[in-house]
Amino acid sequence: MVDLSIAQHNASTTPPPVCWRNGQIVPLEQATVSVFDHGLLYGDGVFEGIRFYKGRAFRLQAHLERLFLSARAIALSIPYSIEQLTQAVVETISAAPEINGYLRLVVTRGPGPLGIDPSRCHSPVVFIVADRLQLVSERVRSEGAKVIIAATRRLGADGLDPRIKSLNYLNHILARMEASHAGADEAILLNSAGRIAEGSADNIFIVQRGELLTPPVIEGALDGITRQAVLELAEKLSIKAREIPLAPYDLFTADECFLTGTGAELIPVGYADGRKIPECPGPIYSQLLAAFRELVNSEK
Ligand code: PMP
Repeated sequence: MVDLSIAQHNASTTPPPVCWRNGQIVPLEQATVSVFDHGLLYGDGVFEGIRFYKGRAFRLQAHLERLFLSARAIALSIPYSIEQLTQAVVETISAAPEINGYLRLVVTRGPGPLGIDPSRCHSPVVFIVADRLQLVSERVRSEGAKVIIAATRRLGADGLDPRIKSLNYLNHILARMEASHAGADEAILLNSAGRIAEGSADNIFIVQRGELLTPPVIEGALDGITRQAVLELAEKLSIKAREIPLAPYDLFTADECFLTGTGAELIPVGYADGRKIPECPGPIYSQLLAAFRELVNSEK
């Protein structure tokens, strides 16, 4: 089983992560939240996973914009401006154990009395953790990930809008557990109509007859930063791309399939529920991956 998203920290062999919390880098012993924090008690909060390359955060502005929109959507007021959080991210990356890594920026509702009512939580907690990134295994890169279609469904936009990147990941976790139990690398979640939404922590693309297809966000996908970058690159490379509802049939009969995410970057898919995806890694995936690497190196 490969974690396609982010690292595991092995305290004995790797330098420790660093943490910025409410205004400053703090020693790890002080990098704590209250047991009364509603982020912990109820998943009441929002977050971003951000990758940094050579000491620079990739698409930081887009991540911060998504964070602020997620927070507004749940009426959570972030006690910093985008500029202040940009500065905080820069500071955290400078203190990070390595120049390449992963940031987790979290805003919780903060501590309050027990009970889900957020109106008595007056001090949102903001923290940023910088850690190393465990790269996706060579096996997955070369042979492709094995994905299953999970029985656990993606929450509908009428339950929780997929654009909100909230701390509620339980159904994604359950889907990922299904993948683990099936010996697969990742789970694909369907929406309540049985159409493809996304992976447990990544967006999905397929290629059919030379055309790149991905479900629209309204189908239950996070508006992924990597997804957006891939759509931009497709346009630049004159690869025809469309956001279109997809059924499991489309995945099973795809010529190519790949997943995108901040931690995963672009991951080819080799098997979907036991059906072999014929081209893995396929030509369009390979072209987009090369362009993505170039983008990461060139973007300032
Ligand atoms: N969907 C979900 C549910 C995710 O958690 C992630 C990871 N943030 C993604 C998609 C990919 O989004 P991004 O490219 O912004 O990391």
